Amino acid sequence: MSSDAEQLKHDSHYLRGPLAAELANDESGFSDDANNLLKFHGIYQQDDRDRRRELTRAGEGPAYSCMVRCAVPAGVLRSDQWFEIDRLADTVAPEGTPGALRLTTRQGVQYHFVHKGGLKGLVNALNHGLVTTYAACGDVVRNIMVSSAPHAGRDLERVESLARALANRFRPRSAAYWELWLDGERAVSSGPAAAGDRPSSGDDAEPIYGPTYLPRKFKIGIAVPGDNSIDVYSNCVGIVPIDGPDGEPGAVVLAGGGLGRNHADETTFPRLAEPMAWVPEDRIVDVVEGIVVTFRDWGNREDRRKARLKYVVEEHGIDWLRHQVEEYLGTTLADPVPLPPWENPRKHLGWHRQDDSTWFIGVPVPGGRLVDTDLHRPRAAIRAVLTDHADEIRLTPNQDVLLCGIAEADKAAVEQLLTDHGVRQAERFPLSVLSSMACPALPTCGKALGEAERVLPEVTATLDRLLAERGLHDVAIETRMTGCPNGCARPYVAELGIVGRTKSAYDIFIGGDPAGTRLATRLIESVPLDKLADVVGPLLDRYRVDRLLGEGFGDWADRRGVVSLAEHLPVVSPRSRRAGRVEVERERFVGVGR
Ligand code: SF4
Repeated sequence: MSSDAEQLKHDSHYLRGPLAAELANDESGFSDDANNLLKFHGIYQQDDRDRRRELTRAGEGPAYSCMVRCAVPAGVLRSDQWFEIDRLADTVAPEGTPGALRLTTRQGVQYHFVHKGGLKGLVNALNHGLVTTYAACGDVVRNIMVSSAPHAGRDLERVESLARALANRFRPRSAAYWELWLDGERAVSSGPAAAGDRPSSGDDAEPIYGPTYLPRKFKIGIAVPGDNSIDVYSNCVGIVPIDGPDGEPGAVVLAGGGLGRNHADETTFPRLAEPMAWVPEDRIVDVVEGIVVTFRDWGNREDRRKARLKYVVEEHGIDWLRHQVEEYLGTTLADPVPLPPWENPRKHLGWHRQDDSTWFIGVPVPGGRLVDTDLHRPRAAIRAVLTDHADEIRLTPNQDVLLCGIAEADKAAVEQLLTDHGVRQAERFPLSVLSSMACPALPTCGKALGEAERVLPEVTATLDRLLAERGLHDVAIETRMTGCPNGCARPYVAELGIVGRTKSAYDIFIGGDPAGTRLATRLIESVPLDKLADVVGPLLDRYRVDRLLGEGFGDWADRRGVVSLAEHLPVVSPRSRRAGRVEVERERFVGVGR
């Protein structure tokens, strides 16, 4: 056993540990051990970072509350599931605040500020509404993402059925979840029950994971050919369905992606997944199991900062991983076939024909935050559209929603409903807002070093102004902002990535492409947010005169090179000029996964 985290998992008797006892006691929060096990159940204990100092000065403990995350394979929910998720937002909202939901960057839904005493009722009700929180967090395979614009026809049916099969294969089997949240009652949500497996509390509880589960989280994304809205290369395993050389259905399986890094450890880095093999359709889940098991056995269990599949692949190579999988399955795998180019845009906003008789509409949700105010009632609007006109809601990897299955004759009524509820459609947003994404960061995330979601409007307003001043009204720059280097909003594949270093300073990355196939490179460190314009303005000056016809900001930055661009920037802090060293880092990864 190599670390405290590993010992805790091992001793927890399959995710039980002190959870039952601590759920029943009168304390306002959970112990560290309980908190670490809660993650496997889809729950993070957090505290109000805005109040931390004030409470410490007053000699009081932290203001604890919990984040509860629903795992939604492929981001697809029927109307009745959504109604229950939406209803429960009001039941757990802190007194005096409106019910709120947050759409995640991995097609899930989160509740924030849930009191400890409200956890059991919430998780229980979600399960009865056919939604699970199991394995939404923790050292397991997380929510399966799918680039699921519903006009993808046959490809979409394939990827969604694959997403469900993967979710069933890799959801934990331990009965701890049902014991804790459902009084032992069999889960009605899409858990192992859907696969006909029997949850267990014995030593056979986890046939894939074993008693210590995975070294850390494991992310899987499935991209419909041409649509890389999920950033497939950023996943531990990426799957792109594509017929083999003989026309047989199957997929290219990629492996070794992941974006998290650590400011204090320069040996941590973002990495793009590489094509590993082409796999026939009926073996894809088994091949992914082979990769998961390889990670289980070879992943770093001593240093959680290095405990991701990408470091295993970086050390041993993609061919080694393929060989491990071949040994596990007792078969050989075929070489990957070339993938078709990825197309833009990737957001699917506005109206799109779904099939011969129905449409879907993509509605922007800035910051992924769904909360009703007097003038702007997106939750009520979604309920109204789902009640009378649509049959399904899809959560996108960009934190927007797609309302699906709308009859041609209902389009005008849907638009009117959105307008009546103060919900703006895509064409009424600035391009910078539609092209940006941020993680929650402060005040809820315990790892946040700086702000993200709360200051994103300030950032997009700055970008709007800078672009307008230069006549670049039609330019959209894919911008991602996070409060720490973990990269939950995927800043390292953005055209402009803004990553929190301290409460007031950010590292700036440039050069990713809008299709998500190239890593951005760190341009400058420790930029105060109010100096962002001093960095981006000069870049846009050069971009405006130097860009090729139709060349996007990220492609231009990549062509020009970060070292040459950094020379023209102001020095905004003593630590800021690190581009030369970063360029060396970049040499190791550029081109991987293209
Ligand atoms: Fe928290 Fe960091 Fe993830 Fe943002 S990127 S949500 S600050 S862990």
